[in-house]
Amino acid sequence: MSQRTLVLLKPDAVRRGLIGEIIGRIERKAGWTIAALEMRELDQETLEQHYGEHKGKPFYEPLMGFMASGPIVALVVEGERVIEGLRTLAGPTDPIAAAPGSIRGDYGTIVRENLIHASDSEESAARELKLFFPGL
Ligand code: GDP
Ligand code: MG
Repeated sequence: MSQRTLVLLKPDAVRRGLIGEIIGRIERKAGWTIAALEMRELDQETLEQHYGEHKGKPFYEPLMGFMASGPIVALVVEGERVIEGLRTLAGPTDPIAAAPGSIRGDYGTIVRENLIHASDSEESAARELKLFFPGL
């Protein structure tokens, strides 16, 4: 079942020089390919649409500030069960709870600055891919 998912390398990953490391891990999964890739800064409107489900939560405003604090790298990753697979590769939201071997488990400590976003379902992937790569 080939799928497409949206991945964002968050500003902490870019600042810390982990773009190559993280993309390398994704590329080395058999059969997964990068279908699109772009570095950009996120405007407020895109961020609000992307994280709309969290509006009103205590971490929402700091999250928006963090996500706008520097460039991110947006990728479309394509392949077998890639939506579930990238969530596994990223690890749970809290990097301290994430197992070693996962991206968040290996490189993160702070919940907000957890390096990577990956779509959490087919519905989210469809919505997020349209938001970040409307032409694709
Ligand atoms: P994800 O799907 O694993 O990225 O997690 P969520 O969709 O629940 O949250 C979106 C993002 O908000 C997370 O990746 C974190 O960057 C941040 N976040 C989520 N929960 C918390 C929290 O309890 N505290 C803080 N500071 N940030 C959070
Ligand atoms: Mg999420």
